[in-house]
Amino acid sequence: MEVPTAITNAPGAGMMRRAAVVLMGFALLGGELLAQKQATQQKQKPIPVAKYNGPKDKDIAVGKQYAAQVEQQMRVIPNEELTSYINRVGNRLVATGMLDRDFPYTFKVVQEQSINAFALPGGPMFVHTGLIAAAENEAQMAGVLAHELSHVSLRHSMANAKKQQTISGLGSIGGAVLGGMFGGLGQIAAEGAQMGTQAWVMKYSRTAESEADLLGAYTMAKAGYNPLELARFFEKLEQQMGGDPGKIAQFFSDHPNPGNRTTAIESQLAYMAPGSYTAHEGDLDSMRKLVAGLPSAPRGGSGQGAGPKALAANSPVPEFQISQNYRHINAGGLSLSVPDNWHANGDKQSGRIMILPEGGVLEGGAIGAGILIGTYQPKQAQSWEQAHQELLQSLTQQNQGKMQAEAEPQNMQISGRNALMSRMVSPSPYQGTKEHDYVLSTVVQNQLLYFVCVGPDSRWSQLGPVYGKVLQSVRIGAR
Ligand SMILES: [Zn+2]
Repeated sequence: MEVPTAITNAPGAGMMRRAAVVLMGFALLGGELLAQKQATQQKQKPIPVAKYNGPKDKDIAVGKQYAAQVEQQMRVIPNEELTSYINRVGNRLVATGMLDRDFPYTFKVVQEQSINAFALPGGPMFVHTGLIAAAENEAQMAGVLAHELSHVSLRHSMANAKKQQTISGLGSIGGAVLGGMFGGLGQIAAEGAQMGTQAWVMKYSRTAESEADLLGAYTMAKAGYNPLELARFFEKLEQQMGGDPGKIAQFFSDHPNPGNRTTAIESQLAYMAPGSYTAHEGDLDSMRKLVAGLPSAPRGGSGQGAGPKALAANSPVPEFQISQNYRHINAGGLSLSVPDNWHANGDKQSGRIMILPEGGVLEGGAIGAGILIGTYQPKQAQSWEQAHQELLQSLTQQNQGKMQAEAEPQNMQISGRNALMSRMVSPSPYQGTKEHDYVLSTVVQNQLLYFVCVGPDSRWSQLGPVYGKVLQSVRIGAR
């Protein structure tokens, strides 16, 4: 099975470069007392409220859907001490009542070196170990959390999405599939959580940034943290940009600096709850040690995003390892179970997902064994049957015309939908064998969602039942 683009391994540690809060070009603080004095001369700004009024259960549903992807693609640290710590800090902010109480905020730590934390609509929040390592004190880390939680509470992503009409059909099955899968199928597997955040966090406006800063600062103050630590942390990151931009650079594109962040916070200090404002408290030090002692994350986060090692071209057919245990994959509206020692990775360019056993890919990107999942937009077809034939032609062209149908398409079912399946044969990229390609398609929102099950003839009796199991597990419109 030739595919137009080579399989690339998922990016490693740098894949989530959404450094949380960075500011460029703002003045050094002149001390809190001075700041408060100046602040008294400023008018109180209204505490921001959400301008988006859609049903809140939608935020929660969207967040859950993307959180499931994040948990698959990133390494959530199971350490209890760390988890309870991040929950203590997060819940301290939530308990202020400054944030929308209708959202079930949750907090998890993911092993990722970049300095970031991100929250999905409706409240699932993920804190990078890089943030814990980089914060000088608990208030700085809490500041990043407060800023991100404020985006959730103010529903900025939902408002964004609505503006861009990417969630018009959300809530219906088709919408969920469209919004997630057709929008960036391959990215889910290839870039892990980036899909989860990219789709919803996207780029915040400067207005949204100002609002998140302000509500975040109020929330911090009420929780007893010094809101200025948020600004101090921004400064620190700004200084670090020169040394290691990769760790934080992404933030600049996601969270544009609204300008004078420090001054904006300072000017409102007088109106904020007078907390104990201590910079040095909490258990951050021990958590930093704990984080530093973690074994390094496998490439591709949990390892599920990484592709198998390519075999040399024209290799003999390898022994495929097929685990009896299946793991669940949830990819933007599509869920399925695959042997847990197989790789699930994606190709951003083609928007395809590939489920591959070790040895399933050869140099140059030819797939010798595995399942390819993609979407096809019919060009001239007037019916599904014609669209299916168009798809076969397109796949055949990608295989230099060497793919042939063995029989007429058969009617099948997938996820309770009607599907067509064609059995094709082509030369295998492995030495001395032919290849079976079972192509199955179903219609989703005027496009074809298709699955191609690929395997060498000599191992088909081993692979065929696995493909059957995987296809049976497929759920379209899952969330
Ligand atoms: Zn922001």
